[in-house]
Amino acid sequence: MGSTLLGLDKIMRGEALHAFNPMGGLHHARRRSAGGFCVYNYAAIAIAKALEDYGVERVLYIDIDAHHGDGVLYGFYEDPRVYIADIHESGRYLYPGTGFREEIGSGEARGTKLNIPLNPGDGDEELREALDEVRSFARKANPDIILLQCGADGLFSDPLTHLRYSHDGHRLAVQVVHELAHELCQGRLLVMGGGGYNRRDTAVAWVNAIRVMISCK
Ligand SMILES: [Zn+2]
Ligand SMILES: [Zn+2]
Repeated sequence: MGSTLLGLDKIMRGEALHAFNPMGGLHHARRRSAGGFCVYNYAAIAIAKALEDYGVERVLYIDIDAHHGDGVLYGFYEDPRVYIADIHESGRYLYPGTGFREEIGSGEARGTKLNIPLNPGDGDEELREALDEVRSFARKANPDIILLQCGADGLFSDPLTHLRYSHDGHRLAVQVVHELAHELCQGRLLVMGGGGYNRRDTAVAWVNAIRVMISCK
């Protein structure tokens, strides 16, 4: 937890452009309960801190973990300051059973949430299409900071899910978000890991993510 918030602090104080905590992407816990391997919701706490301690006006949270980030979505479902784009395996087939197209936020926050459920067996092609949608959504959100949960459990080899991203596909997702951070919010990008149950491929994916982040001039 501490490292995720330290990363946020460094970015917000201008001491770092990007930060990455591979352990930071626990996204299922709710405000008052644990869920899905998560006691606390690191991602949601980082968002809340950005809003409350740093007075950020708009946060964009992008989640490419194969599981839907339910704790983050419902924690900010009515908050128009928090834009959420979540690409995941459909809740029809996978835990936690949420994250459908019609879940777009409510009240003033209507339209600030984008859920893109994919079908079992979907891979890079479907991911690429989803990323195009995320790109336009992000430009509309025009955020002050982007948080990315880059769970690697959508990779072809993952034993818990049924998506089939290649390493190139997963890396492309990180590249797209990294470019959006430079285009929209002076590079402010806080990246967290998340799920990933094939250890070797998860390690490869996250090293690739780091390579993307250190590739910028
Ligand atoms: Zn997951
Ligand atoms: Zn960069």
